[in-house]
Amino acid sequence: MRKVIIIGAGLAGCYLATQLQTTCDVTIITKKSAEDSNSMLAQGGIAASLDPGDTPAEHEADTLVAGAHHNKETAVKQLVTTGPTLIKRLIAAGMPFDRKADGQLDFGLEGAHSHHRILHANGDRTGAALTSFVQSLLHQVHWQTNSEALQLTIQSGVCTGVVVRNTQTGELTTLNGDAVVLATGGLGNLFPLTTNNATITGDGIAMAARAGAKLTDMAYMQFHPTLLTLHGRCYGLITEAIRGSGAILVDENNHRIMANVPKKDLAPRDVVARHLQAWQRQGHDLFLDISAIPNFTDRFPGVTENLDNHHVPFRTTKRIPIQPGAHFMMGGVATDLSAQTSLPHLFAVGEVACNGVHGANRLASNSLLDCLVSAKKAAEKIMTITPTETFKNTALPNSKVDPFLPTMTALQDKAWQYLGVVRTRTGLKTFLRWLDQFDYPSPVPTQLTSTQFAIANLCLCAEKIARAAQAAPKSLGANYIEESVVPDQAG
Ligand SMILES: Cc1cc2nc3c(=O)[nH]c(=O)nc-3n(C[C@H](O)[C@H](O)[C@H](O)COP(=O)(O)OP(=O)(O)OC[C@H]3O[C@@H](n4cnc5c(N)ncnc54)[C@H](O)[C@@H]3O)c2cc1C
Repeated sequence: MRKVIIIGAGLAGCYLATQLQTTCDVTIITKKSAEDSNSMLAQGGIAASLDPGDTPAEHEADTLVAGAHHNKETAVKQLVTTGPTLIKRLIAAGMPFDRKADGQLDFGLEGAHSHHRILHANGDRTGAALTSFVQSLLHQVHWQTNSEALQLTIQSGVCTGVVVRNTQTGELTTLNGDAVVLATGGLGNLFPLTTNNATITGDGIAMAARAGAKLTDMAYMQFHPTLLTLHGRCYGLITEAIRGSGAILVDENNHRIMANVPKKDLAPRDVVARHLQAWQRQGHDLFLDISAIPNFTDRFPGVTENLDNHHVPFRTTKRIPIQPGAHFMMGGVATDLSAQTSLPHLFAVGEVACNGVHGANRLASNSLLDCLVSAKKAAEKIMTITPTETFKNTALPNSKVDPFLPTMTALQDKAWQYLGVVRTRTGLKTFLRWLDQFDYPSPVPTQLTSTQFAIANLCLCAEKIARAAQAAPKSLGANYIEESVVPDQAG
């Protein structure tokens, strides 16, 4: 029987496991618990052209516009045509997406979608509902929680396994597999303000890069316009579905910030994030005005609970204090349409991967859909692999070393300054010079603590982002480079 090692327990990893569990020997390893992932945090929903009147072609067109046409068109076609079928299958299996009073599916609207096509579940707790539902379908997999993947093992140019550390006992083991699948999510914790779960530290991207796998589109990091922000700290996402329902972005004087921008408050995320940051830099405070939304607390129970937990008086002020922050990585480990990386037998699904579907900027609610589609395609490909008879294991050095690394806070502050919403060429150079002093490029991961490992991984990802941004001839989508103005010689 084929042995498959899936690293990561978010939607992509778990959905892949549902597809393989009856035909393969599947192990899911995950850093903390099955609940720790960005998938569990997703709020707005999952996009699919299932509403009568909507079509995959319109979904494709919206995805390409949001992605600044940097997308791989075949990947987008695969997403918008395969996605609806997979969603129908999940509904048939019992997935409880929200419905209207008449029993029809209730489609929401989000930024840059031309049609109501966002399915949601349990209001704004879609990610938790969907991921838990998919996890409930798993009955034949081996789970290894509190297990941190540290390093891919390669034999004769083929990925054969992964070195794993039990984070409670420190024990190191090598798990071998006919296919190894990265489903480790993105790298939001590179930035001080992020919507991401604490376990999301670019590990899959860094492990793949160290093993020689190709990365792509690393310049494209999506900054979400609306993170609940109190005293300069982020306390979670305020879903875009709230703007889709009529909320608007204002400052302390009730000035409507997006009034003169095409598509206004529902413009693509990079456009909104830049406008907000520019307004903030002029000394203004930023708010989401929810006064136009009836029954807010019923429609957005997850956001309501979070606001109440942080004592935000939104019921009387009708305002939520927000600012932009790091949300989603469009780039990552380069894959083909079957989730195969450049390293044989190494696959990547979900946010860690870049199959080109998101282009230079992801369309809202396309990433959960990509988790399903990329996992489905990976499963089909993995089923064609011939099982290996034997694996060789080598000794693992585990004596601790103390490499020179920045603190997480120092790294995050520099990344926000130089790799954030607006970048400059001078800033990118300054950042790379600063990074150059640290010992992150090729550490022995088994010799690092978990914190050192995360910092080294995020340093490597940051370097890849800075170099990709530098190499870009001009701004595109989420990689916005403010070019310095050459002074007019003639005066
Ligand atoms: C707050 C929030 C709201 C969002 N809302 C939406 C939305 O409404 N619609 C939408 O389409 N998208 C949304 N997104 C994006 C979407 O949730 C993610 O892109 C998607 O869930 C990623 O799924 P994944 O399975 O690839 O990775 P994740 O769900 O992030 O899972 C990664 C898994 O890998 C594990 N892991 C990481 N490193 C290691 C390691 N070294 N060893 C072992 N395990 C490891 C993690 O602990 C985790 O279990 C949102 C994201 C956030 C953060």
